[in-house]
Amino acid sequence: MTNQQNLVETITAQFRQGSTQLQVFTLLSDQKWHCRECEGKNIGSTQYAGGGGIQGLQRGTRSRPGLVIETDKNYCQNCQQIRLGDRWIGEIKSANSASNIASLTWWTTNNNINIR
Ligand SMILES: [Zn+2]
Repeated sequence: MTNQQNLVETITAQFRQGSTQLQVFTLLSDQKWHCRECEGKNIGSTQYAGGGGIQGLQRGTRSRPGLVIETDKNYCQNCQQIRLGDRWIGEIKSANSASNIASLTWWTTNNNINIR
């Protein structure tokens, strides 16, 4: 198992079964760009881009680090229009507060994950 697979599996295990965040993370775990319009509809939650979705993933929690997600406009094949979308670049980050930096170190060590 590569470190990246390990990271994805470890993060996946942190979410509540059936939660919007789990669905959004599963989607973004391929590290490809995803159209907000289309994926929001697929997931069927108004929380797709909000605290229960993308925004919450970026922020992280006490038990899970934040994800580095790029938000960009791109051409969506499905909409056939330029749309706003998101891409996880495969990295995690801590929030700015000292307690979160400590917990990121704890989290990566505890889960046997190396980050740059
Ligand atoms: Zn689209």
